[in-house]
Amino acid sequence: MAKTLNTFLFGDYRIATATSGRSGYKHTFGGAHDRKGTSREDCNGILIHLLHRLDLTDPAVPIAIPGVRWLPFYYCFDFRANDLGYQLISDEELVTFFPEDDPNVSQEESWPDDNFPPEFPESPIKIAPRDYDPTNLEDAFQWAGAFGIGKLSAPDQATAKARVSEIMDSLGLGIPETEEDFEQALSRPFMQGKPDGPCLNPECSNRKTRGQLISIALMPAEPVRGVHTFGRWGGGVQLIFQMCPKCYTIRVSNQCD
Ligand SMILES: [Zn+2]
Repeated sequence: MAKTLNTFLFGDYRIATATSGRSGYKHTFGGAHDRKGTSREDCNGILIHLLHRLDLTDPAVPIAIPGVRWLPFYYCFDFRANDLGYQLISDEELVTFFPEDDPNVSQEESWPDDNFPPEFPESPIKIAPRDYDPTNLEDAFQWAGAFGIGKLSAPDQATAKARVSEIMDSLGLGIPETEEDFEQALSRPFMQGKPDGPCLNPECSNRKTRGQLISIALMPAEPVRGVHTFGRWGGGVQLIFQMCPKCYTIRVSNQCD
């Protein structure tokens, strides 16, 4: 996939893009922490960064969370955590959850680049709907990792499966056989497959169940021109934001191309 400055938002069989620009809503990228629960002290000494902050009253945003107007996208770029979980309590407060079972993390505070900024410069963001028709074969195939192919006709579903089998075979990855195999293989636009981690909220019944989270956003490494969130060498890293349909906890993970 070509690198773009588009951040894609997913929900309700709709796609929107978040890009630099002004609108009637006060969506932003970067800036200071926007609510309680985000400080270093609140996060076991770990500094998290605010990325987008979206006003969910904008009808172009295809995401809804009960009792929440401002949806912040946070991530931990400190290598002590790969994935970050957070539950929005209100527009004034959130609670973070850090996975304790990730072996691939650093013991010491370390950042993607020298002089990593304590926060990203704040800039305005606009949201625009993007064409997407879940009953169209090409659209469904291209975004199957976010929405599946369940809205396609039976013949089109068969075509999509045949096509992904051919791609997998040509890459020497083996031909999918079960429904589960196909669901994993039909993973565009996620470069390393659709993430299937469990909910990070220890009190949620999805805590032990994989594959339950809904993808709500896909963010490139340079979401705003000139802001390289993963540093000079991290241009191919994407962030995937997923949300638990039971407790609305957000889980953020990264993938490389
Ligand atoms: Zn949950």
